Amino acid sequence: MQGSLIPNEFVVDVDHQRCRRCKRCILNCGFGVFDFQSMTTADSSKCVACHRCVMFCPEDAITITRNPLAFKEHSSWGIDSRKAIWKQAESSGMILTGMGTDLPWLNVFDHLLIDACQVTNPSIDPLREPMELRTYLGRKPDKVEIEVDDKGKPRAVNSVENNIKLETPIIFSGMSYGSVSLNTHRALAIAAQRLGTVMNTGEGGLHRELYPYKDNIIVQCASGRFGVHSEYLNAGVAVEIKIGQGAKPGIGGHLPGEKIGLEVSGTRMIPVGTDALSPAPHHDIYSIEDLRQLIYALKEATGYKPVSVKIATVHNVAAIASGIARAGADIIYLDGFRGGTGASPAVIRDHVGIPMEIALAVVDSRLRQEGIRNWVSIIAAGGIRSSADVAKAIALGADAVGVGTAALIALGCRLCQKCYTGNCSWGIATQRPELVDRLDPDWGAERLVNLINSWSLELKEILGALGINAIESLRGNRERLRALGLDSTVMEILEVKPAGV
Ligand code: SF4
Ligand code: SF4
Repeated sequence: MQGSLIPNEFVVDVDHQRCRRCKRCILNCGFGVFDFQSMTTADSSKCVACHRCVMFCPEDAITITRNPLAFKEHSSWGIDSRKAIWKQAESSGMILTGMGTDLPWLNVFDHLLIDACQVTNPSIDPLREPMELRTYLGRKPDKVEIEVDDKGKPRAVNSVENNIKLETPIIFSGMSYGSVSLNTHRALAIAAQRLGTVMNTGEGGLHRELYPYKDNIIVQCASGRFGVHSEYLNAGVAVEIKIGQGAKPGIGGHLPGEKIGLEVSGTRMIPVGTDALSPAPHHDIYSIEDLRQLIYALKEATGYKPVSVKIATVHNVAAIASGIARAGADIIYLDGFRGGTGASPAVIRDHVGIPMEIALAVVDSRLRQEGIRNWVSIIAAGGIRSSADVAKAIALGADAVGVGTAALIALGCRLCQKCYTGNCSWGIATQRPELVDRLDPDWGAERLVNLINSWSLELKEILGALGINAIESLRGNRERLRALGLDSTVMEILEVKPAGV
């Protein structure tokens, strides 16, 4: 027998009574599903359910359904397990995937509830009273020193001058130019500037066109050192050393040569068409002392701007975070195992790492126990889906959160998980010029601004319900969280009481 045993995941149906043969579906599908002979035809085997054709068909003539597979059910050998085995039996390779894990692991956020004020402790109405979301990222002084001026007025003498000032505790996570399009980076940069927050370049450097957004950009220095040079390091408000990424802890990255066109090649400083392989480790970091050297080299190179260190959340994350703080970092970026990616082996994405919620709680507790919590700010990322998640992450100990997948969904992403193919029909995770043009950066920026403004408004409502008027009062305030449906060990680790207590 020859041919593939792998069944189509989706079935694409074109209603020929409705179809007016305009061929828009052919133009819109990045995956080449549609063709036209005497009528519009669809090759379901290529469909990834990105839904671009459905959105742009003027006659609503296209229906995509999940292929109703009539395989014998088996509690251990689910359809996905069997499909993965067929795929590997046919390819002898790793199964690649994009975006975050879709396995039904316990989501801790979904088992945490936020407190509210009632009779004796009044809530605050955010429509009538000011609510403070402003956030400063970076090292804070060990104690507040007060001096009294000539008029007898006291004022704080400590300075947080080189902290990053954010108008909302939400930033855009690192997504590299190369894995996403320049128009995606443009939308993120414009939105970050309008919101008074920051975007992160990811590991692919920064296109020169975006240098004017330097006050709203964190530049990343990853193991491949793509696009890293002195001007780049100074083209942001902070530098981030990426040690690990939530979706693929402990492994490097691979951007295929087909995505390295002229512009990406110029930005990454590698030849056109070559594969961009970032090594799993930084070849100059094998200890906390090595990390310290890089942190201080980057501080020297940038006039002592804050340095962030990004790590994937793994089992001994609290000890690692303590080492990072002691190595001189100003920010620790914790990327949980639900974080997105342009490309990762599915086995790593789905089975390596731990949830950000748990990592965040243990890191915050450890740094407090050691009396060094003020040395660093913590950014939590990897699975933030709503303002409720933001509030819960901050109550667990985060200073701010990073959003990546949610930002891409705002730009049109349908979570088809095929970013690694470079065929993203929505112009997000692609370098094909005709696809990139589909994402208008100004339209995208407006949607991102709307999303983050909506979440910020909701955060103010949550603060009001809690009877507090500043996000600072929620930071690490786990007393205002309760667990529902978590076992006692997880509650103990989170230091959160059960609901009703
Ligand atoms: S976009 Fe819709 S109407 Fe146009 S050719 Fe395709 S199926 Fe037919
Ligand atoms: S960015 Fe594009 S390719 Fe990636 S999951 Fe979203 S729609 Fe699919």
